Amino acid sequence: MSLPVPARSAAPSPGWSAAHPARAVVDLGAIGHNVGVLRAAAPGAELMAVVKADAYGHGLLPVARAALAAGATWLGAAQLAEALELRAGLDAGAPAGAARPRILTWIFAPGAPLERALAADLDLSASAPWAVAEIAAAARATGRTARVHLKVDTGMGRGGARPEAFGDLVDAALAAQAEGAVRVVGVWSHLACADEPENPATARQVEVFTAAVAQAERAGARPEVRHLAASSGTLLHPATHFDLVRPGIAVYGLTPAPAVASSRTLGLRPAMRLEARLTVVKPAPAGTPLSYGHTAVTTADTHLGVVPLGYGDGIPRAASDAGPVMVAGRRYHVAGRVCMDQVVVDLGPEGADVAVGDTAVLFGDGAGGGPTADDWAGVVGTINYEIVTRLGCRVPRVYAGGTGSEDA
Ligand SMILES: *Cc1c(COP(=O)(O)O)cnc(C)c1O
Repeated sequence: MSLPVPARSAAPSPGWSAAHPARAVVDLGAIGHNVGVLRAAAPGAELMAVVKADAYGHGLLPVARAALAAGATWLGAAQLAEALELRAGLDAGAPAGAARPRILTWIFAPGAPLERALAADLDLSASAPWAVAEIAAAARATGRTARVHLKVDTGMGRGGARPEAFGDLVDAALAAQAEGAVRVVGVWSHLACADEPENPATARQVEVFTAAVAQAERAGARPEVRHLAASSGTLLHPATHFDLVRPGIAVYGLTPAPAVASSRTLGLRPAMRLEARLTVVKPAPAGTPLSYGHTAVTTADTHLGVVPLGYGDGIPRAASDAGPVMVAGRRYHVAGRVCMDQVVVDLGPEGADVAVGDTAVLFGDGAGGGPTADDWAGVVGTINYEIVTRLGCRVPRVYAGGTGSEDA
């Protein structure tokens, strides 16, 4: 073996943590652009940017602020705890007297701290009379009127009152409203198959939803917002828009329906780029086995690069021997098993020009033929949602392209 050892490259460019050679760069300009695309797709509706699960792994507060700056008037957070964190974070950074965005949260169990939710001025969902009772009790205790969105299960088979039980939910909510404890401000539901344009389930859900809204109105409810559409509904089904749309994945620039349209076709810009600096580059002869279990073996004299990201960072171990990686403008894939902290890439003979410290991109906006979250999803047999959302808290998030950005 007499392959040359590459020279050490320069210190990291600004924006890299000196102590952590991996990062997710989130382009807040892309978030703003995507909110604009979604608003244009549903011009008659308000837009709720769904920022649950730490904004699908992108970072709760920077994304929420960028979405609001781009015209979102509502924010959605699934868990009560994340909605409380969202309100506190937004309030802490807001000038005194600034308008507060509406925040809807919909997942809580009996005994949840609903008094705190009302103090934080959250909108709450109720799927059953027990939830109305707990919300009304919190309202009485705090002297506030709770804003409630009644959820009907129009065919998702998950949250919401089934249509035959919706009348009881409406009655419970209107009784609490008559007493001044709550105001029914919304009726809502969620679509199960909106990413399949030909699936008749969507039209059926719209029918059930329309009937439920009419039932609530006949009983005396006057909801401000009827809402049904997430990203697929917003982009593919205008009949689902009603008064408010609730996109999540498309805010992050990823297609909700890759079989129908790519991010690019939809005019979306993927906001996250996951990358790391190579911590090892070294020549290796043909026949070198790689990583745990020796599932890969080099077939020629080559160079190996080690990327400091692994399943401890949310890289799926199922991407062993397959996950795409771009180095020096060339596309490679993970060689051998994904480890907890690292993966190996067989850089081939061209690896002679690659230096330790150079950047490896695992996924980004796909420009220049680079890999995307959809490519990783395809390799692993999952959806782009899971690729970005599972990214671990160990990976620093760095913000670019927005006001108040932390630089990249
Ligand atoms: C997650 C979620 C959304 C957003 O869904 P996307 O497919 O990411 O747009 C909207 N509404 C509800 C109830 C959700 O749980």
